[in-house]
Amino acid sequence: MSQKHIAIVGAGPVGVVAALAAVQQGFRVSLYEAESTVDDSPRAATTHSSTLEMVARVGLIDRFTAEGLTARYFQFWDQTTHSLVAQFDHEILKNDTPYPFVVQTEQHKLANMGIDKLRATPGASVHFQHRVTALEQTEDKVTLTLETPGGAQEVEADYVIGADGGRSTIRKALDIAFDGMTWPERFIVITVKDDFERLMGCCYRNYLAHPGAWTNLFKISGDDMQGRWRAVFPSEVDETDEQALSDEAVARRLSHVLPKADPYDVLHRNIYRVHQRVAAQFRKGRVFLAGDAAHVNNPIGGLGLNCGIHDAMELVDMLTSVERGEEDASVFDRYERRRRQMNIEFVQQQTINNKKRLEEKDPVARARALDEMRKIADDPARHRQFLLRSSLIDSVRQAKTIQ
Ligand SMILES: Cc1cc2nc3c(=O)[nH]c(=O)nc-3n(C[C@H](O)[C@H](O)[C@H](O)COP(=O)(O)OP(=O)(O)OC[C@H]3O[C@@H](n4cnc5c(N)ncnc54)[C@H](O)[C@@H]3O)c2cc1C
Repeated sequence: MSQKHIAIVGAGPVGVVAALAAVQQGFRVSLYEAESTVDDSPRAATTHSSTLEMVARVGLIDRFTAEGLTARYFQFWDQTTHSLVAQFDHEILKNDTPYPFVVQTEQHKLANMGIDKLRATPGASVHFQHRVTALEQTEDKVTLTLETPGGAQEVEADYVIGADGGRSTIRKALDIAFDGMTWPERFIVITVKDDFERLMGCCYRNYLAHPGAWTNLFKISGDDMQGRWRAVFPSEVDETDEQALSDEAVARRLSHVLPKADPYDVLHRNIYRVHQRVAAQFRKGRVFLAGDAAHVNNPIGGLGLNCGIHDAMELVDMLTSVERGEEDASVFDRYERRRRQMNIEFVQQQTINNKKRLEEKDPVARARALDEMRKIADDPARHRQFLLRSSLIDSVRQAKTIQ
């Protein structure tokens, strides 16, 4: 095919994977990132089976697995009694995927290893400190305006992928609404050195239900590969950020997970506002939205970035088949039909349900929800169905049926 130029805005994990997939399909690719480095604040790590298949397709699976932790199980706990409710085992998916497990690798590692590979690939260029400020398009090209250390620049591309995160400049420039809601509480992320597997006998990925204050608890490897634990909690609605991040509140939340005599070794703390929003359109003309630029959700279940990587792969496959003349440009709308619907059905619904299950206050509904988790885990057919959905394998299969 003639070498068409794709400009990708945002060197987060979604932009980087899109760039890699596109250059590997023969496109010329330019990746533009506003900041001077990849953002390494603690965010996504949980990478599901369906997404691992995509990480493998772009040639990063060995390094991705080596720099993270493989988690075969996840557990569901009742935090009011400190007891294990149910354990799920991805091995049950061994006939559904070559990767019957989750890999917990921090998202900045994925972006950085992808950039290393892009830099070694002819046809790809990576530009930090290049902030896109505006775009214009005609029927056959898009022009981006960029702010760079050398002054303003204009770049022409055949297609643009806006992977520039939740506050996307590209989405705003296209005047696309970001419909949905913002949760009144914020989410607090605390990273500690203490080993919860040893302390409470949990696995690498745990969801702790509590009517007052639920917790998500994960092990990650850290940049030093020494291992650390990340705990996510809801704030009180009327608590200020300063109060939520104070030493006293951090210690209180950690001892709510597990009281212990000596203080926790806290490495990092942060607080986020959390939304459930989906862009009204995923495309205008030759410009497409992917990842958080197109959809945002709460992190319970670890689905947001996974869904963003699925967007990137679907988009590149579609552009490739159009450029090869296998399909015509009418399939551009299929991208939105597939990816918008999959986000609503799988990511928005599951993350909202996951949050509700963890925080349920009504004792009867709570007992019913926990009992249901137990029953699902105990029934092999339902156990597999549950994991097919939570690992987005079902979403990939269903998307293919949408024309
Ligand atoms: C606490 C927390 C935990 C999470 N855990 C998980 C998880 O376990 N699993 C999961 O799947 N998801 C998880 N998520 C969600 C996940 O972090 C996001 O979905 C993910 O970051 C989206 O990646 P992205 O590449 O679309 O956007 P981003 O990572 O936000 O990257 C966007 C990039 O675009 C750049 N940019 C912005 N504007 C411009 C511009 N005008 N010009 C050029 N560049 C620009 C930014 O600097 C940034 O580098 C979590 C989120 C949070 C907050």
